[in-house]
Amino acid sequence: MIPELFKNGKTVFSFEIFPPKKDGSIETIYKTLDELSDLHPDFISVTYGAGGSVAGASTHEIAGIIKKKYNTRCIAHLTCVNSTKADIDQAIEEFKRSNVKNILALRGDINPEIEPKHEFEHASDLISYLKAKCDMSVSGACYPEGHVESGSIDEDIENLKIKIDAGAEHLISQLFFDNGAFYRFLEKARAKGINVPIQAGIMPCVNANQIRRMISLCGASLPEKFTKLIARYGDDPEAMREAGVAYAIDQIIDLAANGVDGIHLYTMNNPGVARKICESVSNVLANIKKE
Ligand code: FAD
Repeated sequence: MIPELFKNGKTVFSFEIFPPKKDGSIETIYKTLDELSDLHPDFISVTYGAGGSVAGASTHEIAGIIKKKYNTRCIAHLTCVNSTKADIDQAIEEFKRSNVKNILALRGDINPEIEPKHEFEHASDLISYLKAKCDMSVSGACYPEGHVESGSIDEDIENLKIKIDAGAEHLISQLFFDNGAFYRFLEKARAKGINVPIQAGIMPCVNANQIRRMISLCGASLPEKFTKLIARYGDDPEAMREAGVAYAIDQIIDLAANGVDGIHLYTMNNPGVARKICESVSNVLANIKKE
C-alpha cells in the first residue's frame, strides 16, 4: 500500500500521468509508460477525467497495466461530484478487477454546465464511503496556497482535517512554485494534527502557455525568480524547457533538503522531462533522512 512507502526515511518520488484523450491513441500511453517505468518511480498515479478516454485506456485499465506489466505501484484517481453511489460502486468493482489497491479520492471540479449529483458534496464524503466499502488505501489532495473556493488557507486546512478524519492516509499537493508557501502550509497542517505523509506536487514549467493556463485555474503564486524566467524564455521553447527543468530541480532539491515526505512530479505525459529531472536528483532523493 502507498502509505507504507513513507516509513523508511527516503524521499518518496512519484509521477502523475493522464489517460490518452478520446481522440488520442492508446499506443502513446504505452510508450510513455515504457519510458517512465524505466525511471523506477515509487509509484505512478493516473488521473480521472470527465471527458472520457480511449477504449482500453481508462484510469483503472492503465492503473492495472502499470501494476501488472511494469510491476510498479499505482494510485488511481477517482472524482465524485458528478457521481451517484451506484457509479462509485461500479468504479470500485473496476478497480478490484484491475487489482488496483490505492485510490486518490477527489471531489472534482464543479462544471457550471453540469448539475452535481449531490450524493457526494466533498472529497471527505467519498473517502468515508470508500473506507466503509473496501479495503483499499485512500489518499487525498491538498492545497499549499488554499483551494480556490475556500475563504482562507486556515479554513481550507480545517476542511483538510475533515478529510483526514474521514480516513485519508496520505496527501498529494497541488502544484506550487514557491517552496516557502509549501513550508508555511506544512507547519499549519501539522499544528492542526494532520500527521499523514504529505507529498509536494511539482510541475516542471516547460511550456509557458500551458503553465499560464494552469496558474489561472489553480491560483499558484509566482516568485519573481519564476516570472522573470517566463518573461525571458517563454517564447523560446528550447530555452524554456531548459530553464523550467532547472527550476523544478532546484525546487525538488530544496524540498528534499528540508525533509519533505515526498515529491509528486506532474509529468504531463512527458517522459523526456521526467528523465532529465530524475537524472539530476536521484541521489538526493535516495538519501535516507536521519532522525
Ligand atoms: P474537496 O476536498 O472536497 O475540497 C473542495 C472545496 O471544499 C475546498 O475549498 C475545501 O476547503 C472545501 N471542503 C472540503 N471538504 C469540506 C467539508 N467537509 N465541508 C465543507 N467544505 C469542505 N480533478 C479531476 O477531475 N481529476 C483528477 O484526476 C484530479 N487529480 C488531482 C490530483 C491532485 C493531487 C490535486 C491537488 C487535484 C486534482 N484534481 C483532479 C482537481 C480537483 O478535483 C479539484 O481541485 C477540485 O476542485 C477539488 O477537489 P478536492 O478533492 O480537493 O475537493
